[in-house]
This record gives sequence, structure tokens and C-alpha cells, in this order.
Amino acid sequence: MTVIKENWIFAETELQKINPVTYQLITKMNQISHDPVVVVLIEGQADKLENQLSEYGPDKIMTIKDDALVNGDDLEITNALNNLIKLKGTPNTFIFPATVVGRSIAPRLQARLRAGLTADCLDLKFEDDLLIQTKPSYGDNIMCEIIIPDHRPQMATARPNVFSAEKYDNPELTIEDITNLDWQKDSNLEIKTQVLPPKTSDDIATAKRIVALGRGDKTDPGIKTAQQLAQKLHANVGVTRPLTDLDNFTIDDQIGQSGQTVAPELLLNLGISGAVQYTAGIANAKVVVSANTDSKAQIFKYSDYYFVGNAQEFAKALEANL
Ligand SMILES: Cc1cc2nc3c(=O)[nH]c(=O)nc-3n(C[C@H](O)[C@H](O)[C@H](O)COP(=O)(O)OP(=O)(O)OC[C@H]3O[C@@H](n4cnc5c(N)ncnc54)[C@H](O)[C@@H]3O)c2cc1C
Repeated sequence: MTVIKENWIFAETELQKINPVTYQLITKMNQISHDPVVVVLIEGQADKLENQLSEYGPDKIMTIKDDALVNGDDLEITNALNNLIKLKGTPNTFIFPATVVGRSIAPRLQARLRAGLTADCLDLKFEDDLLIQTKPSYGDNIMCEIIIPDHRPQMATARPNVFSAEKYDNPELTIEDITNLDWQKDSNLEIKTQVLPPKTSDDIATAKRIVALGRGDKTDPGIKTAQQLAQKLHANVGVTRPLTDLDNFTIDDQIGQSGQTVAPELLLNLGISGAVQYTAGIANAKVVVSANTDSKAQIFKYSDYYFVGNAQEFAKALEANL
């Protein structure tokens, strides 16, 4: 196995657009990596997505231009990445977004490469070429640092919106087109496809304002008041995990470690205790306002402003004043 001193990032695309998490990963790797940061991009023949990627200043973009592979399934993309590594050498690290796509491809590739993979990282740093991967562990009550000393590439998926994206003009940037990469899958393989129901709500991951509801404000009138307040604030409604059991909400609305990481300018927490699994998803919220009847609620430690009292009354009063 030839290990090359490069740190690779998988560029996630959707409908001929780069998923912004890719820019966040490039910025983070530029900040922590001494070795070249290389983005692996799969795009159609006519696409020019490398122009968008280049604004964030990786050292290199490897572009696999293949119209069929753009619509390939996860196994085909895994084949392509596996063969790319055979062609170019094994990178020191290979980072994927912790999205539905990244969480599916990364472990398939890891199994092929017999490498190590840390899922859902909240932070990354290097000690020499060793990647220190931070993620919540042990019932999610502590943050753990994980290393993969013996295998390469060191693979990780990292959460969207944990790192911020910054544009950077890298004069050293090179773009390499990779052609004739084999990725066809074994024709004997049977693929079963499961179609997931469409999303029921707008995406809270990119929302600028969020009204978040917890178990302390889950009555029908409480939910209605929160929805009216959200409408006035042009905000999305998010929830803690217990509320995903209600018919009104799904996992797409859930904020936190096993839900979505959010980074709104304004986050209103109504009747939320502030469990570590919830607060893991709100670290990048700018202004946090919380209402809770318990003056010692953990959520207040994460809040810029707080109200001790009934969350529904607080939401009603706020709405009336807007
Ligand atoms: C592996 C794992 C992953 C998890 N992932 C997530 C996740 O991604 N997201 C998530 O949210 N949870 C997650 N959880 C669950 C998490 O541990 C908590 O149980 C959950 O966040 C609690 O939600 P809550 O704050 O709404 O409810 P509670 O903890 O029950 O808090 C309710 C709060 O409401 C207050 N209250 C009560 N009545 C009122 C009122 N009238 N007005 C105002 N305040 C009131 C109470 O004082 C209390 O603080 C996970 C758990 C595990 C084990």
C-alpha cells in the first residue's frame, strides 16, 4: 500500500450543486492540515462545480467527470473511490460529510480498504499526520478523542454546520481530471431499494431562526402557539427527541446529536431541559433564548437570555409584542 501525504475530502453534490458541508470541511482541513488538501468531486461532463469548490482554496481538486456515475448508487460510488485510491495511492485521511450520503458511502469504502472510520465527528485536529477525531461517546455523556494509528486512510464523517466555511484564494490550486475510472458493480449483486417518505418540513439545518419545542411545551395549544410565533419570526420549528413521537413531527425536525446540527442566528428553546444530546446540536447558534419553569435547567447555561416560567405564556407574550 502506497500512502500519499494528502488529506482527501469527498465533495457531496445534489442536483448539480455542492452541498455547503463540503465547503465547511475544506475550510477545517485547510486550518488543521500541513499536507495538501484534496477534494474528490464526481460531476457530469458539462458541469463546472470545481469553480465553486476552488473559492474555498483546497490544494487540489480531482474531478471524475462521468454522467452515469453522477446518478450512480452508493455501491457504484464506493467502487469508483476504491479504484481511485488504487490509481492514485492511499491518502493519509479521507473525510466525508456525516449526511445520508456520506454515512452510507464512508463505511462501505472503509470495509473495502480495511481502514478505520469514526462516525459523526464534532471536531478534528492533527498531531503530526495522526488525525484526532472528537465525538460524543459512552451514552453520549462525554466527548471522546479517537485515533487510528495503524491503518490508512484515517476515515471520518463530520457533522454539517459544526465547522464554518470561509472563502480562501489558494494560488497553488490544481485541478486534475480523472478519466476512465472503472466503477461498474458486480452484475450478480442484487440491490434492494427502500423509498423513504418525503420530508414533512423545511430544513432546520440551514434555518436562520428556529423556535424549538421540548417536552415542557408539547401540548396542542403549546405547539400551536409556537407555530404562530415561528410564522411571525419567519422561523422554522424544531423539536427535541421526545416530540418526534408526536404525529406533528418527524426525525427531520429533531435537533441534537442523533438529529440535526443547527446554526441559526436566533434559537428560542421552549420547555427544553438542555440534555447533552440536545445541546450537542446547538453549539453554533448565535443568540439563544430559553424559557423553562425550572430555574436550574441546564439549558440556561447555553442561553444568552432566559425566562423562568411557563414556556407557552412566554411564547404568547412574545408573539403579541411582535
Ligand atoms: C443516544 C441518544 C441520542 C439522543 N439524541 C437526541 C437528540 O438528537 N436530540 C434530543 O433532543 N434528544 C436526544 N436524546 C434524548 C435526550 O437525552 C433527552 O432525553 C431529550 O433531549 C430531552 O428532551 P426535552 O428537553 O424536551 O425533555 P425533558 O428533559 O423532559 O425536559 C423538559 C423540560 O421542560 C421544562 N418544563 C416543564 N413544564 C414546563 C412549562 N410549562 N414551561 C416551561 N418549561 C417547562 C422542565 O423543567 C424540563 O426542563 C438522545 C438520547 C440518547 C440516549
